[in-house]
Amino acid sequence: MSSEIIVTVRGASRTVPRGTRVRELLKDLDGGKFIAARVNSKLVDLSRPIETDAAVEPVPPDSPEGLDVIRHSTAHLMAQAVQSLYPGTQVTIGPTIEDGFYYDFAREAPFTAEDLPKIESKMRELAKADQKVERIEMDREEAIQTFARMHEQYKVEIIKDIPANERVSIYRQGDWMDLCRGPHVPSTRYLKAFKLTAVAGAYWRGDERNAMLWRIYGTAFADKESLEEHLKLLELARSRDHRKLGREMGLFMFDPLSPGSPFFLPKGTIIYNQLVEYIRRLYRRYGFDEVITPIIFKNQLWQISGHWEIFRDNMFLTTDRESEAGELNYGVKPMNCPGHALIYRQEKRSYRDLPLRLADFSKLYRAERSGTLHGLTRVRMMSQDDAHIFCAPEQVAEEIDRNLKMVRDVYGALGFDQIELKLATMPEKHLGPEESWRRTEAMLGTAMERNGFRYELNPGEGAFYGPKIETYVADALKRKWQLATIQLDFNMPERFDLSFTTSAGTEERPVMIHRAILGSLERFIGVLLEHTGGVLPFWLAPEQVRVLSLSEKVEAYAAELLEIVAHQGFRASADLRNEKLGFKVREAELAKIPYMIVVGEREAAQRAVSLRRLRGEKSQVMGLENMLQLLKAEPIPA
Ligand SMILES: [Zn+2]
Ligand SMILES: [Zn+2]
Repeated sequence: MSSEIIVTVRGASRTVPRGTRVRELLKDLDGGKFIAARVNSKLVDLSRPIETDAAVEPVPPDSPEGLDVIRHSTAHLMAQAVQSLYPGTQVTIGPTIEDGFYYDFAREAPFTAEDLPKIESKMRELAKADQKVERIEMDREEAIQTFARMHEQYKVEIIKDIPANERVSIYRQGDWMDLCRGPHVPSTRYLKAFKLTAVAGAYWRGDERNAMLWRIYGTAFADKESLEEHLKLLELARSRDHRKLGREMGLFMFDPLSPGSPFFLPKGTIIYNQLVEYIRRLYRRYGFDEVITPIIFKNQLWQISGHWEIFRDNMFLTTDRESEAGELNYGVKPMNCPGHALIYRQEKRSYRDLPLRLADFSKLYRAERSGTLHGLTRVRMMSQDDAHIFCAPEQVAEEIDRNLKMVRDVYGALGFDQIELKLATMPEKHLGPEESWRRTEAMLGTAMERNGFRYELNPGEGAFYGPKIETYVADALKRKWQLATIQLDFNMPERFDLSFTTSAGTEERPVMIHRAILGSLERFIGVLLEHTGGVLPFWLAPEQVRVLSLSEKVEAYAAELLEIVAHQGFRASADLRNEKLGFKVREAELAKIPYMIVVGEREAAQRAVSLRRLRGEKSQVMGLENMLQLLKAEPIPA
């Protein structure tokens, strides 16, 4: 065996002694600022000796892989700090996650948020100590004995799952060590920008029959600036959490007696209904007809539609008490499509009836697992601005175009200026042959291109009956949400044996297009709240105007103003309480009311108002007519 090997770094090859360490190879490149490397595409430590000819790619700290190494190394640092501060605590697992990491610890007493600063400061101390992070390999048996001696029973359990003849790697820093694949940073001093963010309970191996562990979450970055930026965004996200805004603005509530099913309070109901009315205006323009359909159907319907086979686990089942042996003979609808297929089937259809566009705002119920529920964005009860279009195959392109135009209208009007489209393709569980899937996928792709949309693929994410166009909008925090969908379906018409008479007098199958532009109204409202921070456009604001009186002397004038504004059709209220103006203004701001009409004795004497906009410039004194003109000029999307 030759004592030399050929290594290729960023395309340039050279000969080096066998066993040269990665660090040695990269030290003159970009000032050697790397924390790991890929050797023949395997991620390794900088201290790893290279034994064969190899292609070596450096991993900089701020690359996605570099961040992963930093975050996992920080998880080790945290575990080291925890075990030195709280003797007797056992370690379990500590993976990286999106934007951070966690580590699960076994200990009697739980960790609380108050423990975090202490742990963080110990971490800083250990990082400064510049402890070398070393990789040690041993055989499985030896590793079991090592961790058994340390009373780390969870680690022993993990190692026992590794095949008997495999060698395992252990990473050591100072006198602390952990079973780990690595790679890691060369030394603890590389870890200088981290923050512990939360504590939570978690079951060992995610199984509630196992012991409860304590999970500590944290995040880490390559430098302090990136960490600060991330923490700021987290803070903003927290302040814009739609669940928090919903409470503050009095929009909706939840009750444990109906998990995942929102109660829209009067103000939230206004937003909800305004959105529905807006979509109804678009329906008139785009030729949709609204229908109202049943909520529960006999199981037989779900068997025909295929939901029984593929979606039953997500359905609420019920009974009309006329079934044999109390069997659950009905299902609560999770989707409107089968009901609409029944409407289509009710009559003999001809090509002159097509396209038939049926819209439905019906409530839908899905038995989402309680653990996955999240505010309005993951619910069990929802309504969509749902519609199904039954059309002849040659009408599909025109119908897709029409709906893509609606997508543009709606998202433009609601201030989401960046929409991204994806083509979700055939999932593993699907109805119908692959060949027809590929054909319809291509059809949707062409439609997006024709309408000037660029799109990406979302492989395997189509609905079980057909591929779909998915629309993602980024909110103000750059998070992406899937909202509108347009789905092509050749299966449902087949299953319901739908047909129409062509102009030539033959019978043909229609195509069914499922589409929703807002998607679920619940989720849309959640996303809209986070996108706007609760500052909704005037036409959606539950309370558009609030009259604030400066003193009791102007009460009558304030009440008269309220009547004038309300009479013009604006949603208004008056705050006549004997409180300081600053207090009343703050409350109106928290409720995100677009206009405040402030009146004192001067305004009353002149029959004028002092108009103040939410987060606006200074207040403006004006006559009543001017004020009403201003309110009437606020745009409402047609
Ligand atoms: Zn590890
Ligand atoms: Zn549908």
